Amino acid sequence: MPERAHLAFADQLAVHLRASSPLLVVDTVEEQRLVAKAAELARQLGMRCLTWDAVGGFHSVDEGRAMAPATDAHDVLSRLRAMSSDSLVILKDFHHEWEDPRVRRALRNYAQRGSAAGPTVIVVGAGAVVHPELVDATVTLELPPPTRYELQAVLSDVLAAHWARRELDPAGVEHLVESARGLTLEQARRVFTRAVVADGVLDHRDVALVQEEKKQLIAASGALEYLDPDLGPEDVGGLDALKEWLRLRERGFSAAAREFGLPAPKGVALIGLPGTGKSLTAKAVGRLWGVPLLRLDVGAIYSSYMGESERRARHALRLAEAIAPCVVWIDELEKAVASGGNDTGTSTRVVGTLLTWMAEKSAPCFVVATANDISRLPPELLRRGRFDEIFFLDLPSAAERAEILAVHVRRSGRDPAGFDLGAVAARTEGFVGAELAQVVADALVVAFDADRDIATADLLACAAEVVPLAVSQRERIAALRGWLAEGRAKPASTGR
Ligand code: ADP
Repeated sequence: MPERAHLAFADQLAVHLRASSPLLVVDTVEEQRLVAKAAELARQLGMRCLTWDAVGGFHSVDEGRAMAPATDAHDVLSRLRAMSSDSLVILKDFHHEWEDPRVRRALRNYAQRGSAAGPTVIVVGAGAVVHPELVDATVTLELPPPTRYELQAVLSDVLAAHWARRELDPAGVEHLVESARGLTLEQARRVFTRAVVADGVLDHRDVALVQEEKKQLIAASGALEYLDPDLGPEDVGGLDALKEWLRLRERGFSAAAREFGLPAPKGVALIGLPGTGKSLTAKAVGRLWGVPLLRLDVGAIYSSYMGESERRARHALRLAEAIAPCVVWIDELEKAVASGGNDTGTSTRVVGTLLTWMAEKSAPCFVVATANDISRLPPELLRRGRFDEIFFLDLPSAAERAEILAVHVRRSGRDPAGFDLGAVAARTEGFVGAELAQVVADALVVAFDADRDIATADLLACAAEVVPLAVSQRERIAALRGWLAEGRAKPASTGR
């Protein structure tokens, strides 16, 4: 991990200020938070702090007053040159200005100046992606999401401004603050205010309100989806080795395990034919470990705009880190590679962003990557050490088929003991879990239509109607098994 990633944002910024780095870029919607942090740091270092925007011109943060009303980009740059180097100048939304080639040229000239000549400049804005011509001239910094302490301070502000009866004990308050992780400070301020103003009470129901807000926010990010943990390990039939592996890792995810010296589990890849229970397992992990499950839609990350795909990927991953501990499920990993279409450069960079993140993430985000088709995956994606383990989900054995049938019979509200599921399992060789679930669903329809309850005979009759996908997928199964035999993956089930 590069050392810089360990440094807190303020430390990184301090290094750049001391070194008189000419040009920094921060892509964030949290402009006010960035200004507050930077101004505080400048004060500590005995530097002046100015901001600029296209409407108001320059403004002195320390003195709280407007200065030069420069609104033209060239005018701004020539004024910068005249300023002393013990200043920090924050240019809001200046990334729009560098669409102009002459502004880019001027910025590059500015960045090529000798050190100690002129202030450090921070360009801040939502979507402030560095122009390719400026890559050499700039340093990009990431403003991390608000910490628990910053959110706590916002809650205190809100409670000071609005009277509310407090029915939360300290642990409840902590839970409320914790559930706001991932929100920006402004979003947190809005939702906390709404929570106390709505009914004049601060209580446990407000936690649900904050979580609801967060779900909507995650949905708005476009690439992440917050899934409700409606399925648990009891809904997964068979796959005993995989389930045991996950069970053993549960505590590995806890703060106690970190203190014990265990590294946080990175993630697991699940490979197998469609319908073998990969998605089901991903969903069950969230419930098993009692943490939120976020589905990352790699297809939604791609954009035709230069640099935008990586930006979206970084944004989604940063959001996931803010919500950690959580499980990040990357569905159909092969899409990450294919979605780039002809533009293999973009898909390589997006996959690269994912891989780097998986290797370097410090927050406990456990990745579950699922894939149907390994032939479309670049080998480096499944290289040893990338994931903690790679599991192969084969066609279920007869015993596993009986277990899967039992899961679905139970989910229909019936006792599996009332059926001869062994007999049905014996007649469903080659069926995957999804097909077995379908057999139970079909049998229910038939019995309901005949005004009676289902029986083993209905299951057998419905099973006879199905031609399992595996029949037409022999070659693919053989390829997957060959891959397993090479020792590149672990079987998800024992005793076959
Ligand atoms: P995959 O992600 O491997 O393509 P899914 O997990 O989406 O397959 O499976 C689809 C559905 O099939 C599940 O929602 C579940 O109803 C059923 N199913 C698949 N495998 C199993 C299993 N091992 N145990 C119980 N149900 C299963």
